[in-house]
Amino acid sequence: MKVQNVIVGAGIAGITLARRLAEEKNQSVLIIERRSHIGGYCFDYREEEGILIHKYGPHIFRTDSKKVYDYLSRFTSWIDYQHKVLSYVGGKLFPMPINLDTVNSFLNTSYTSEDVMDYFNRVKMNKDNINSVQDIIESQVGELFYRAFFENYTRKQWGVSPADLPKEIVSRIPIRNNRDDRYFTVPYQGIPKNGYTEMMAGMLDHPNIHVMLNTDFSWAKGEILFDRLFYSGSIDEFYDYRFGKLPYRCVSFQLEKLNCAFYQPVAVVNYPNDYDYTRITEFKHFTNQKSEHSVIAKEYSSGSGDPSYPIPEKANRKLYEKYKNLETKSVTFIGRLGQYRYYSMDQVIADIFKIDI
Ligand code: UDP
Repeated sequence: MKVQNVIVGAGIAGITLARRLAEEKNQSVLIIERRSHIGGYCFDYREEEGILIHKYGPHIFRTDSKKVYDYLSRFTSWIDYQHKVLSYVGGKLFPMPINLDTVNSFLNTSYTSEDVMDYFNRVKMNKDNINSVQDIIESQVGELFYRAFFENYTRKQWGVSPADLPKEIVSRIPIRNNRDDRYFTVPYQGIPKNGYTEMMAGMLDHPNIHVMLNTDFSWAKGEILFDRLFYSGSIDEFYDYRFGKLPYRCVSFQLEKLNCAFYQPVAVVNYPNDYDYTRITEFKHFTNQKSEHSVIAKEYSSGSGDPSYPIPEKANRKLYEKYKNLETKSVTFIGRLGQYRYYSMDQVIADIFKIDI
């Protein structure tokens, strides 16, 4: 079998690239996917009541790029959703990111916006260098809020001390002195009307694109002739771990179907200090579906399982670069795993737009 392009992995990176090659270049593309479904970690499906479940954890599409938003809007319409998160600390729920209400409720005060700024100016820690998650948070809100809301969550999520993780990990979480309780404030935000899987099936619906599910790349290597290869799996696996394994954080989910219309007031509740799970997602909030039942997912983070989050520590980045130096013209690494980057859906797509095809 001969094809112009082979793409390994039918996630958002591979699918966006396939569409570009097929549409802009009129080239043939074969996507090889190990799993039994398309969509990668964005895959969603309907359970028996019709509730849309994000199999690999909450995915909220948001971007400040009109280009990325308009591109996806060719394949889906959107549920106009604004993401809200609460954090469970000391038996109470607080808005996350930290805002005026978080502070007043946590400190039992009735500060105004100016008072809160004064308070943070008093308690924030002055540091010469701000490199880590701990540095950036403590230098904005001080030790008390850092310990209550960030320290243990970050350790549970990444398995590493927040002092050893780069500050970029929390760059999406602002500190606010107003009452805005949205998680993201970028101009474009939403959930695909009929789910990510349907949106991505639409992107794949092109005569130049073929997909093989349940297929390992090791099989394809011997069977298929191709001019170019794009690989969205883990780069260390591609090179048979010759320099050692790159560390990844892995997440798993325990689904529970509940006999109530809603379990929690917002889609995601974080549990920094209690329980083994990091957060609970209740899917109906994304879609506003009506049902007497609800489905929640408890999310656990660990060091074993399918790789989901690259761990952006310095030593890991160095190891990644060593693998990346092996890259030749015949293979291009794409996506979160191929590039070993902690980035969101819109960033993955924006990167695919930049590839010179
Ligand atoms: N974080 C935290 N406490 C929270 C929420 C987030 O310490 O209540 C930190 C944590 O290090 C986390 C990062 O901020 O990994 C980014 O969190 P977010 O939930 O936005 O990322 P996601 O896991 O959804 O990619």
